[in-house]
Amino acid sequence: MMQTSPPLAEQISANIALVRDHIAAAARRAGREPDAVTLIAVSKTHSPAVLAAAVAAGMRDFGENRVQEAAEKAPAVEAPGPLVWHLIGHLQRNKARRAVEIFDMIHSVDRVRLAEELDRYASEAGRSPLPVLLQVNVAGEEQKEGFDLPGGLASGMKLTLFYAEVERIMSLSHLEVRGLMAIAPYVADPEQARPTFHALRELRDNLALRFGPAAWRDLSMGMTGDYEVAVEEGATLVRVGRAIFGDRI
Ligand SMILES: *Cc1c(COP(=O)(O)O)cnc(C)c1O
Repeated sequence: MMQTSPPLAEQISANIALVRDHIAAAARRAGREPDAVTLIAVSKTHSPAVLAAAVAAGMRDFGENRVQEAAEKAPAVEAPGPLVWHLIGHLQRNKARRAVEIFDMIHSVDRVRLAEELDRYASEAGRSPLPVLLQVNVAGEEQKEGFDLPGGLASGMKLTLFYAEVERIMSLSHLEVRGLMAIAPYVADPEQARPTFHALRELRDNLALRFGPAAWRDLSMGMTGDYEVAVEEGATLVRVGRAIFGDRI
């Protein structure tokens, strides 16, 4: 196995420590326990050796946005025990079967049809129940994936439709719905992402009231540019790439 050079490994370790400090500080500002937030290292484009450096620094949760890339990398990462793989990118139906074999949690369930296929594959692969999050487009951005719910609870008829879709997905016995995921718009000032995170949290709270809190524990929100604001707004899973591994080439 190739080793990363010491300076890179040290840098990654220092970066992880810094991100963890920022998460803990943001959690405390919001009166939350730092342990309530899981840091996911978004490792797309990085080599197994680079991931191994993050593992050596204590990381166990990794996020990838492509099934094929994760399938190649995951078995090559040196680790003392099992790692937790999160699919955070858009999933095409023809990759759903493979995704179920590789990933421990799928954050990007964005349509009923996909959920139905994941349910079937989870059963076939003996990975039942498979933890999933529903991705929602609360910011109302045109090109963004996710259930279309501009403004979250404010989205009127779309909200009614969404509740029916949620009910259908929750009836799938091989999926375990754990919560919601969103990607905030790219903005210069992280404060501008706050309304998106707030809307996601309100929507989650409402789903918990309607369908019972068990399935609605998680909020996957916050990336390098805005994870502190996301933690203040209730994120339980933050997806951080560049602040750990540096810029992607
Ligand atoms: C790439 C990616 C991230 C991480 O972005 P950074 O800016 O590198 O922290 C988080 N979430 C999703 C869905 C991504 O595709």
